[in-house]
Amino acid sequence: MQTALLPQVPASDTHLLLTGARLIDGTGNAPLDGAEIEAADGRIVYAGPSRDAPPAGATVVDLAGKTIMPGFIDAHVHLAMSIEDRAADTARFMSERVFRGALNARKTLMAGVTTARDLGGIDPGFRAAIAAGLVQGPRLHLALTPLSPTGGHSDHHLPNGTQTGDLSPIDPIIDTDDDVRRTVRTLVRTGADVIKVCTTGGVSSPSDTPDDVGVPAEHVALINHETAKRAGQPVAAHAQGAEGIKEAIRGGVRSVEHGYDIDDEGIALMLEHDTFLVPTLSSALRVPDPALVPDYLYQKKVKWSAIARERVAAAFAAGVKVALGTDAGICPHGVNLREAAHAVELGLSPMQAIVAGTKNAAELMRLDADLGTVEAGKLADLIVVDFDPLADIDPLAKPENVRGVVQGGHIVKDASGWFASAGVPTTGTALG
Ligand SMILES: [Zn+2]
Repeated sequence: MQTALLPQVPASDTHLLLTGARLIDGTGNAPLDGAEIEAADGRIVYAGPSRDAPPAGATVVDLAGKTIMPGFIDAHVHLAMSIEDRAADTARFMSERVFRGALNARKTLMAGVTTARDLGGIDPGFRAAIAAGLVQGPRLHLALTPLSPTGGHSDHHLPNGTQTGDLSPIDPIIDTDDDVRRTVRTLVRTGADVIKVCTTGGVSSPSDTPDDVGVPAEHVALINHETAKRAGQPVAAHAQGAEGIKEAIRGGVRSVEHGYDIDDEGIALMLEHDTFLVPTLSSALRVPDPALVPDYLYQKKVKWSAIARERVAAAFAAGVKVALGTDAGICPHGVNLREAAHAVELGLSPMQAIVAGTKNAAELMRLDADLGTVEAGKLADLIVVDFDPLADIDPLAKPENVRGVVQGGHIVKDASGWFASAGVPTTGTALG
């Protein structure tokens, strides 16, 4: 399989030795107490039991009593979107919206997410700005613009023809084979890392429902045929109703996003095709303030939350491969690791939830050679907490409980001063 573009952030030249912490390395292996992690030039050099002699030249940071995990990966965000702020957004200048998106990116990083996949709404400028250190945020993979047929989830026309929502520079409508080829080639030219299609309608769109089927299996297969000739960009399907979920899997998507009403046949198909489920429970289980959203949206949300609670739990119990993703933008930004607590609520063990948010998500994004676990050779993306997430995962939901965040060997968050007291400063942006 072709490998994906590795999303960059500036790499640190600091030589670090983190000692004494309990390591949950993301592989699913039992935690290791008193672990030692050495990082240099932005990568992990060693992760394992404490060694007799510390490496020469490394700055030692004592993290006894803390827990270290890989930087988390949120496989489904919309950094430039805030559903309850949509009306206000239409009155904003583009620059203002970009700054708000940059703030969301930073909040996401501070919540413990060092890599994310934006499934619609931002262009490659965000990825480039983060790579250049102009703003701080997660390493990014981008879908740019989600695709659907006329009248589907990405078609922002009301029944009377009025245009709502954002006008994407790339036309999101695919009805014919030629539309599929042209649109996918345009997305690839523009820098898409993943192709997002809507194989069902949705909760937040005004004129369709999750039971409606959108992009058919033939078109998913045609997209895979096109991207196989390029970087092998995988397909992620917005898929909520039972029929559209099966359409997506039969077409060969790499991930089913949402999957709220997956039926037993759909679960069997996912197991057969090794498809990832990104259940976006932070959005699914959250019913918004009815005063802030249209009534149709509120009513649909109440109904589909109950369905998701039952059917996603069934998929978990059957053992489908899960990667964590929040759909932040539909739910608030910067509380991403609440998703792990929701996954536990619906049946994963705390360890399974951590693996879903690290190793599995890295595999979904084809970044597992570099990210997702704390192992020698991988990028030094880590978080540090001072509680035991295997005993109780709920504290992860609060970003203030993520006390330390390391990205590419840079200390980007040091809320308790553990790194500062060892003489390692926190890194800001290239702008200071
Ligand atoms: Zn989404």
